[in-house]
Amino acid sequence: MAETDVLAWRIDRGRLERSIEELGRIGATPRGGLTRLALTDEDRRGRDQMVAWMREAGLRITVDRMGNIFGERAGSVPGLPPVMMGSHVDSVPTGGRYDGQLGVLCGLEAIRALNEHAVRTRHPVTLVIFTNEEGARFQPAMIASGVMAGKIALEDAYNARDRDGIRLVDELERIGYLGPEPCVARPMRAYLELHIEQGPFLEEEGLSVGVVEGIVAIAWSRLTITGVQDHAGPTPMRIRHDALVAAAEVVAGARRIATEIGGDLVTTVGTLAVTPNIVNAIPGRVAMSIDMRDPRDAALDRARDMLDELVRAACAREGVTYELEHYWRVPCTAFTPDVIAAVERAARATGARFHRIRSGAGHDAQYMAAIGPTGMIFVPSHEGRSHCEEEFTAIEDIEDGANTLFLAALDLAERA
Ligand SMILES: [Zn+2]
Repeated sequence: MAETDVLAWRIDRGRLERSIEELGRIGATPRGGLTRLALTDEDRRGRDQMVAWMREAGLRITVDRMGNIFGERAGSVPGLPPVMMGSHVDSVPTGGRYDGQLGVLCGLEAIRALNEHAVRTRHPVTLVIFTNEEGARFQPAMIASGVMAGKIALEDAYNARDRDGIRLVDELERIGYLGPEPCVARPMRAYLELHIEQGPFLEEEGLSVGVVEGIVAIAWSRLTITGVQDHAGPTPMRIRHDALVAAAEVVAGARRIATEIGGDLVTTVGTLAVTPNIVNAIPGRVAMSIDMRDPRDAALDRARDMLDELVRAACAREGVTYELEHYWRVPCTAFTPDVIAAVERAARATGARFHRIRSGAGHDAQYMAAIGPTGMIFVPSHEGRSHCEEEFTAIEDIEDGANTLFLAALDLAERA
């Protein structure tokens, strides 16, 4: 069969749409969103549904010690490493139906399309579902691909606890996904992940597909400020040591760091826990998070130095003590040129309107890039919104993205 015929192959949009609908019902919220936190009963039901579909598609299922699920479609040449496609099925609380879900469902649809066309590929094609990508229940995010890439110790991941003190490993076991396979780097031909953009660029430009070149560097810090808790009435201003006043300076200063360094640097204070958090007491303690991202590692280094100085000065002025911990850092990730090229060829063949783009959000692909050749495909997020119930991507765009994933995987897995 001529190569042009292959490029005319397409996934089944109706079937994909039905699967999105069906999986979206598990953990559905009244306003059209999704709450399916990692390793909860909803997560188990989502996983069980995926495994059932993967079995129906003839895949050989294995589960590793971090609960990552693999479904392999055999290749024709023994011993060749697989082309992997995947993402996650956990969500944030009152999140959307597309983040993560689309990546696994479009991967599944790509495999169903391979089956339908009775294609044999030289390399196996494997669908993977990663555990606890969001980091909403257990920190850090992308914990299971992190273990797989050797960046996070298995013991540390097992001992991660949710807000109620429940350990990740105990929940894995409880929902039946504590598998026997070692969670280690394995040979692969490529890893492909389709995901919603979570930013406004594709929609603004009228594009349906983003060919992702890489992911920005991400740094997370936690800051605890300790002042002196006291009565809001009898305590004169001159003798106060107010933890929240120092924290407020850090919140405003973190934004100033972004404007001063400029470029694509973004800084966010996302959590603020005030103690005792009552009307008539001077706050004695504040705990907060700082998230900073930039495509340039050097800019992020500079931002961190400025944060150190900002916190030091703010706390000195208020006469409070602090502990600042830079506890998570992922360097800027550049994806693999031959995988990016395969995605671009596939996007062109599907007739998608596409452009090269960089990801501002972390994904499992970030850790997978440390293991082998990696690339990503983005589809638009309506109004750039995600991690909310309003998250939406039009089916026409999803179809373009899924076809791009399908043709790129077929290209990399090589027809037998
Ligand atoms: Zn995601």
